[in-house]
Amino acid sequence: MYFGSVKFFKHLIYTIIIGVIILAIASSIFFGIMYLGKLAKCDELETNVGMLESELSAANDKIALDSKKAYVPASPTIDDFYLLMSASGYTATDVMEFFSDNETDELEEFFGDELDRRLDEYLSTLPVGTTDSGTPNTHDTSDYSYIYPDVVVEPPSEYLIEKNTVYLTFDDGPSENTVDILKILDKYDIKATFFVVEAKTERQKEIMRQIVDEGHTIGIHSISHVYNKIYASVESYLEDLCNTYNHIYEVTGVKPNILRFPGGSINNYNRLIYHQIIAEVTRRGFVYYDWNVSGEDATRDATWTTIYNNIVKSIENSSTERAIVLLHDSGDKDLTVTTVEDIIQDVSALGYSFKPLNNNVKPINFSYRD
Ligand code: ZN
Repeated sequence: MYFGSVKFFKHLIYTIIIGVIILAIASSIFFGIMYLGKLAKCDELETNVGMLESELSAANDKIALDSKKAYVPASPTIDDFYLLMSASGYTATDVMEFFSDNETDELEEFFGDELDRRLDEYLSTLPVGTTDSGTPNTHDTSDYSYIYPDVVVEPPSEYLIEKNTVYLTFDDGPSENTVDILKILDKYDIKATFFVVEAKTERQKEIMRQIVDEGHTIGIHSISHVYNKIYASVESYLEDLCNTYNHIYEVTGVKPNILRFPGGSINNYNRLIYHQIIAEVTRRGFVYYDWNVSGEDATRDATWTTIYNNIVKSIENSSTERAIVLLHDSGDKDLTVTTVEDIIQDVSALGYSFKPLNNNVKPINFSYRD
């Protein structure tokens, strides 16, 4: 009888031993594979986390540099989400939690509702711009004092309104045309205002000094006069303003306290940031001047007659008490020079006198017309 025999028990013991050995090998192979997979997964996760962390810190830097600008695009990319999340007060951990989860439904729900809610909350605290999706929203930090902190001037104590007065202003010089204009002004003993750009050559610096020496007012216009660059942010504008201020001071010894914005105080390039720019410029004591009469001498189809009429006829027809007149004295504005003498004669005949601007003259501004 095999069952119950010694042989049977021997075989049984062998079978059990072999079974245990096979089971041990199989389970160690199984758990080994699982463990290796887990290790790979950990590595992947770590890489992802590292990537997210560095992207997030780059996003944070960008926000800091962008003067706290939060942009809500119509169809945001993952990059936009990093920006938005950090702008709306999420930490790197928040972002990593949601991304490492990788559950599409949860992500959608989160970005759909929770992120929207937090963003709305954040955007509602911003004073400037709109909160509509797809439009930039600019954060007014109200503190740009770190940019050239010393470029501050004494503001006027009061504004004067001088009646029957015309203020001729010339932008974009100095050039040889400036010299010709100075000659005409001298002939009629009239003082005007020059909003200057950078004097690159020694000759231009000489002309800049001549403006000051002959008793005219010198004002800030721009160093670069490149709209995209100047109005890229509040900071870029202030850099340009302060550089122009320092440049004029170095060349002429005069600390200019009035300015004209390139393109005027409100233009297509600065519509979203002009409030902050004006606030900061005013805080620093500067007075800025737009115009209510323009020669339109910078337009391509300008002729002698259009420039003359744009000034003399509009002053005559508008019966304005005072006019701030925009003209240009850059090197390519030869035509303008030829109109100046007739403008002076005929505007004088209308009963107006010519004066230079100074920071006591009540400004004419696009945003605060009187
Ligand atoms: Zn200009």
